[in-house]
Amino acid sequence: MAEQPDHGTQQRMPSMDNGKSPQTIAAANGIGSDAQYGAVTPPIHLSTTYRFPGFEKPGPYDYSRTANPTRDLLADTLAQLEGGAGAVVTATGMAAVSLLLAMLDPGDLIVAPHDCYGGTHRLLSMRAAKGHFDVAFVDLNEAAGFAEALRRGPALILIETPSNPLMRITDIAKLAEQGKAAGARIAVDNTFLSPALQQPLALGADFVIHSTTKYLNGHSDVVGGAVIAAHTQDLNHLKEWANAMGLTGSPFDAYLTLRGLRTLFPRLEYQQRTAFAVADFLDRHPCVETVHYPGLPSHPGHAIAERQQRGFGAMLSFNIKGGADGARRFVEAVKVFTLAESLGGIESLVAHPVTMTHASMGIEARRAAGIDDSLLRLSIGLEGERDLLMDLDQALRTVAPLLGRSSV
Ligand code: PLP
Repeated sequence: MAEQPDHGTQQRMPSMDNGKSPQTIAAANGIGSDAQYGAVTPPIHLSTTYRFPGFEKPGPYDYSRTANPTRDLLADTLAQLEGGAGAVVTATGMAAVSLLLAMLDPGDLIVAPHDCYGGTHRLLSMRAAKGHFDVAFVDLNEAAGFAEALRRGPALILIETPSNPLMRITDIAKLAEQGKAAGARIAVDNTFLSPALQQPLALGADFVIHSTTKYLNGHSDVVGGAVIAAHTQDLNHLKEWANAMGLTGSPFDAYLTLRGLRTLFPRLEYQQRTAFAVADFLDRHPCVETVHYPGLPSHPGHAIAERQQRGFGAMLSFNIKGGADGARRFVEAVKVFTLAESLGGIESLVAHPVTMTHASMGIEARRAAGIDDSLLRLSIGLEGERDLLMDLDQALRTVAPLLGRSSV
């Protein structure tokens, strides 16, 4: 992996950088900046190629795989929100993970959470099997196992907090300090919270990755990703690799994602308020075994989440009573929630990780991570709280016969 730059000198917090609050950056970055016609909403630039003003004289843009004004505006907005030196916008969230992995050399070790997103787990496993690098999946919250992984001298530590789907919380600042002392770089997948609720670079991370498919776009109509780098030297490497591998995002997707990003703060504020009510409701429901939501004081990561996040987010999961049969009955009974992959949109979704998002992980890895048949993951949208609670209640009650009761 590339040499470590001088940490801390190039980190930017949005509010310190230009005096604007993050809400203003999300809502208004680039607004009214069109020099040609004075368009308030920044125009979309779909052209794949750009005229050279003269022989051996490229303009600011030459070819859209390399750079594009619409994509650059999204990248700039994300970099400001995360407090980074800059960002590369990619075609998908997995392309963002792939781009990060391009920074590794054969023989480098990446330490990743044992309960990370199934697609990330699959990609790391497949590339490690090809000898591109070594991977160690560890429980980042288990001190002895993490210390053992650090002794192996990892080049990169990947953190996913809250984790998908178990909502485990990792102390970013603590792990970043320990990881850096061992010579590792730190990357955080911030997909579940977005920079509205968590800024990993300010806590010591070197990279933030996103599936912008989720909260940043927020409308379940664009697949995209981004890597934000804390340091200019890393950013330049990422841009070089993104161009070489051809995994940059399309301008049209960047335009739509920027449009979704304008409402990130109010969406999340509303969604997380409802998520709290849902978690509280499930926590008291007789058909629910365990609720995984960091906003509940009983959650093992509650105190860390309270310290490192600006809110508890709108994702949660729970174990339903009745095991796999209970889960099946529940997903077949919901009417307001939709059974679907993905998260972070305006609509409420339910997913069954074992058969959906984490199916590719394999039973052994899922068992080690604590993901079983009874686990259901909820992404809370913008519907009315009452409708969501009533839907959950009627779907949960279908489990009663499995518990030896006619009703609950
Ligand atoms: N990271 C996390 C935490 C995710 O949940 C996902 C997708 O669900 C990804 C990365 C991959 O993103 P994409 O589906 O946009 O490729």
